[in-house]
Amino acid sequence: MDMEEEDLYEILSIDRGASSVEIKKAYRKAALSSHPDKHAEENRAEAEARFKAVQQAYDILQDDQKRHMYDTHGMAAFKSGHGAGAGAGGGVDLDDILAQMFNMGGGGGMPPGMGGMPGMGRRGPAKGPNEEQAYEVTLEELYKGKTTRFASTKSVICGTCDGSGGKEKAKPMKCSNCGGKGQVIGHRHTPFGLMQEASQCSNCEGTGQVFKDKDKCKKCKGKRVVQTKKMLELYIPRGSREGDKIVLQGEADQTPGQEPGDIIFELTETPHEVFKRVGADLAATIDVTLAEALTGFNRVVLKHLDGRGIQISPPKGKILRPEQVLRIEGEGMPMKRSDARGNLFLMVNIEFPEDGKLDSAAIEKLRNVLPGPEPPIKTEEVEEVEYDGDANMEDFGAGSDDPRGAEWEDDEEEDGGPQCATQ
Ligand SMILES: [Zn+2]
Ligand SMILES: [Zn+2]
Repeated sequence: MDMEEEDLYEILSIDRGASSVEIKKAYRKAALSSHPDKHAEENRAEAEARFKAVQQAYDILQDDQKRHMYDTHGMAAFKSGHGAGAGAGGGVDLDDILAQMFNMGGGGGMPPGMGGMPGMGRRGPAKGPNEEQAYEVTLEELYKGKTTRFASTKSVICGTCDGSGGKEKAKPMKCSNCGGKGQVIGHRHTPFGLMQEASQCSNCEGTGQVFKDKDKCKKCKGKRVVQTKKMLELYIPRGSREGDKIVLQGEADQTPGQEPGDIIFELTETPHEVFKRVGADLAATIDVTLAEALTGFNRVVLKHLDGRGIQISPPKGKILRPEQVLRIEGEGMPMKRSDARGNLFLMVNIEFPEDGKLDSAAIEKLRNVLPGPEPPIKTEEVEEVEYDGDANMEDFGAGSDDPRGAEWEDDEEEDGGPQCATQ
């Protein structure tokens, strides 16, 4: 079966823009119809190959990172150990870049299947530890999606000795430090007395075998691995969220006899000055002058995450009011692998004129055009009082043991209005 010839999207009979739900559906259908048990003896081998191809296509396409690698580099992105450092061919071409980016550095000598396809029922050697790290992304980057390349220094199996640590035909000796066990028993002082502890032998690095100095591989000096810089590509799909994990499969340090672990990036969204995000929805505050709130306007009120200006014009005769919220459908965050978007919530902040800004002529005009007060409140006695104009409702009932003080605060949070709280 030559995977290079086959288009993974064709294998699953989907188009290139398929969503993850569509991929899952197509996979189930294709896996069922190609399952070897469903075919007659003479067609079974073919069905099995088909079945494996379906599995592999699904493994790649259901993972955003792998799917991106496939979309941009084809199956070459998943081949390991070919063209390893051979330096063949002239000039810089895509193959060189790919070799640099994707071959596992060492060429041969890797355990079979390393860096290849997961989930194909192969039982590989023990897997090395994963390397996890946080990756900070801005809201703009999450909105647009991002592909980034970076150099990673890691241990790869020495290509000269294929990870044996010795020269060709050299025979290793039993490690004298650990007697070939690969482990040494040490002693440690603890509050409970002297404790015995087994640890990996540092002389042979746990292999139990060493080469004489003259037999050691010249390239890795018997260490079996060498440090290599490798270019890695990280793909962050648009619409990704805080906490999403991006797995670079098999890109952690290599150790002979072990399948390498993964490098796992966990996304951290940096706080944004203008926008707040919850799920696929965005919220922002817009400033509107009192005159605009009363008389209307038609202008850009916000610069969106992709740089577009968001323009609004309230319908004629509609007045904007303090704390009013405008919802714009489909202007929130994009959703992964889909054309759907969340909504944008604009919280209206009305900028009133500063104290003393209105002269008496302006005040006179306003009095004439704006509605006056309700009919006067009739009382027998009238007291003229002074007030503190910077008071805060949090001080209302504060320090009293009246349980309604607490009630007040709760109500205020839920309903957003003090008038709802008292009777
Ligand atoms: Zn070596
Ligand atoms: Zn040893």
